Amino acid sequence: MQRILTINGGSSSIKFAVFEEAGPGRVLEGAIERIGLSDASLWMKGQGPDVFRQIVVPDHETAVAVLTESIDFGALAAVGHRVVHGGQRYSKSHPITEIMLDDLRRLGSFDPEHLPGELMLIDAFHRKFPGLKQVACFDTAFHRDLPRVAALLPIPRRFDERGIRRYGFHGLSYEFLMQELARLGDPAATKGRVILAHLGNGASLAAVCDGKPMDTSMGFTPASGLMMSTRTGELDPGVAAYLMQSENLTIEQFSHLVNHESGLLGVSGTSSDMRDLLMRETSDLCAFEAVELFCYQVKKYIGAYAAALGGIDALVFSGGIGENSAVIRGRVCEGLAFLGIELDEKRNAGNAPVISNGRVVVRVVHTDEELMIAKSVFSMLGSKIDRENENDNTRTPG
Ligand code: ADP
Repeated sequence: MQRILTINGGSSSIKFAVFEEAGPGRVLEGAIERIGLSDASLWMKGQGPDVFRQIVVPDHETAVAVLTESIDFGALAAVGHRVVHGGQRYSKSHPITEIMLDDLRRLGSFDPEHLPGELMLIDAFHRKFPGLKQVACFDTAFHRDLPRVAALLPIPRRFDERGIRRYGFHGLSYEFLMQELARLGDPAATKGRVILAHLGNGASLAAVCDGKPMDTSMGFTPASGLMMSTRTGELDPGVAAYLMQSENLTIEQFSHLVNHESGLLGVSGTSSDMRDLLMRETSDLCAFEAVELFCYQVKKYIGAYAAALGGIDALVFSGGIGENSAVIRGRVCEGLAFLGIELDEKRNAGNAPVISNGRVVVRVVHTDEELMIAKSVFSMLGSKIDRENENDNTRTPG
């Protein structure tokens, strides 16, 4: 039986899962979380008793050592990596080659927040398991055929020729959500206007018409679009110039400010975590304003995409916030009855799969990026994984 490992490396966590070709599919999964912080931890389940322990992982290098040296993944046929940026060249999943690695190293400056760390993971696995097939699954691939008008940035043309345009991200999640819509028999999966809202620490929306991606809120990098847990999202370029000058910031300091000190954390002044903010919002005005701003921005994007699509047939909430927070979904959808979006209070409160009672079908779907990576890797190995056999209970809650 073939086993493959999926690696989903973020800025402060590395999620992993082992899939088998047949049987229950996912046999092991876990994550190293809060890398670089004093309370970093490792959890793992599916193989023997569940594991949860605090570990010392000051950096990604150490996290990779923990992964590759202390966990027995069994005999692996391949490793699939989530890779955030494929640039113009890589528009679908692809076996990792030296040529690709050179391309991705060059692309590192497109997304210094993510790509260098991901390349380090690929290198580390290569060193530990030389000869093992590795596959890159790109978050940009879903959006590869965005209409020109959605992809073009209003800057001088010469930059477009250098690949400075909207790429869009969260593609593995969006691909999964569209496949789920189809699996659930929603006609909008192939014929209709769909808005997908992936609301997690990273957050974005995508507009899809007749199964084709038409627009998305993230741009050249994942820092654009909606405000997020610690990212600004869209920011007036005048604010960027003013801050860099008045605060005398280097590029790195500015990048840290907009990627790690802003968003929910920046506005609330206390936490990047939506649960914390919701708990405190009645007694803490800054927490309240952070939550309000987030909901307002999601609502504005839904309105914008309804306009771009000429209406809306289905709205899908996903990601840690989208899947778990009835309060946020309620506030986002409040006042959108004019678009046909009306929530059923009870079903929304229960995180039901369908939470609407209006014309637009509003769904809550638990996304599964790892499964999309696994599917790509298995199809590259010439075998298949069957969603029906997936055990949905092997994920941690929000
Ligand atoms: P990532 O983008 O890192 O994968 P997740 O998709 O896990 O992040 O989303 C994390 C966010 O989801 C956090 O802000 C967390 O507070 C929020 N979240 C999880 N559960 C709930 C809940 N029940 N209510 C509100 N927010 C929640």
